Amino acid sequence: MNKSMLALIALSLPLATLSAEDQPMTLEAMADATLSQDTFAWDFVEGITTEVGPRQAGTEAEARGREWAVRWLEAQGFENVEDEPFEMQTWVPGEVHKAEIVSPFPQPLVVQPLGGSASTGPEGITAEVVFFRTVDDLRAAPAGSLAGKIAYVSHAMTRTQDGSQYGFAGPARWVGARLASQRGAVATVIKSVGTDYHRNPHTGGTDFADDANPIPAGALSLPDAANLERMFERANGRPITMKLTLTPQDLGTTMSGNVVGEIVGRDPSLPPVLIACHIDSWWNGTGAFDDGAGCGIVAAAALHVRHVGQPLRTIRVLMAGAEETGLWGSKAYSEAHLDERIAVGLESDFGADRIWKFESNFRESNPDLHKRIARAVARFGVSAGMDVATGGADINISRDQKGAIIDLAQDGTRYFDLHHTPDDTLDKIDPVQLRQNVAVWTQVVGILANEPKDIQTGK
Ligand code: ZN
Ligand code: ZN
Repeated sequence: MNKSMLALIALSLPLATLSAEDQPMTLEAMADATLSQDTFAWDFVEGITTEVGPRQAGTEAEARGREWAVRWLEAQGFENVEDEPFEMQTWVPGEVHKAEIVSPFPQPLVVQPLGGSASTGPEGITAEVVFFRTVDDLRAAPAGSLAGKIAYVSHAMTRTQDGSQYGFAGPARWVGARLASQRGAVATVIKSVGTDYHRNPHTGGTDFADDANPIPAGALSLPDAANLERMFERANGRPITMKLTLTPQDLGTTMSGNVVGEIVGRDPSLPPVLIACHIDSWWNGTGAFDDGAGCGIVAAAALHVRHVGQPLRTIRVLMAGAEETGLWGSKAYSEAHLDERIAVGLESDFGADRIWKFESNFRESNPDLHKRIARAVARFGVSAGMDVATGGADINISRDQKGAIIDLAQDGTRYFDLHHTPDDTLDKIDPVQLRQNVAVWTQVVGILANEPKDIQTGK
């Protein structure tokens, strides 16, 4: 029986049935086998998107998602599985999401509210639209200049492998509504922060901070935004009037939770390896790419490492609640566990496409380990980057502890075609790329969980 046959058997058996004689395989052989045979990650993301679907933060649907994840982790043999509760302020999208141009070119446009948007009331708001090509143009508008108006904010976002254009285009969503409110606008619509050509708005959180009154804020699909921009070109100075109806609601304080589970290590006195994702999603898709896949990937990696043999360090999986509406779970986890030292933190929250780059924040402080990991992932086509890893949204605890962090960068070329849209569904996940992801994670988590020395210092 060759190694890949053994792997096949290992992958199809529950943990409890594996005995020592069944585990002669190396971590490398397990990671290689995972490349063609992982079923855990797919099972997780297929299961939660099918049996639960959308998991809007702080709602009953997210609670069902957490319950589902708890049962799944327990069924796979994770120990110390908990749903650690925390309070949050909960926003829900409401039922009515409509935009129409009243004049001079009457027609409907496709819109959805941004997370944190105020309500127009069921009667809607009708007002003149003022066009801003960029957030900086909006920022330059004088105080009071938008009184009674709807601000429209555009941007130009292109596809990139590293997703870096999100940082460039994202402010239209993150702060556009706040800036418009401060200048007197009654509402804001933005060109969706995305790269597709479908009639799907991209939602996502917008932040009014403490210095702006929340106003209704929506995202137009990219084709509808382009249509609106053409109207400005053809209006010859005539005002463009829009009727906008969005009816989101603030529900006040509700409960969410962080789902955790462990593969307990041989030496529980050593700080654990923390691998994270988030369990919530926006209401408009089923949260497959963002972030059901991420939760499937990290949990699958932990299981594959366990199949090679009990790791030295505990591997703790954190499926954070309520990431999308303000990192509530990540903050609550850090607050609750700040005194418990984490050896190293990693997160998966960038879809399900292949991993192409590895980075750490200990390349200089522990070059031996950094190089060992770089060599180990090279065979999967993963390069070693030269930047300092900063970690994803759900590992606030690693940043708060100033601990070791690794980033496994995923191909983001099509991520922003799907991000926060109704198109974020299971069929977009490519099982081959998903397994490459799990293979790289298995390799990296396996090295970290069996590293006796301090990850950050090598001592
Ligand atoms: Zn996410
Ligand atoms: Zn997201």
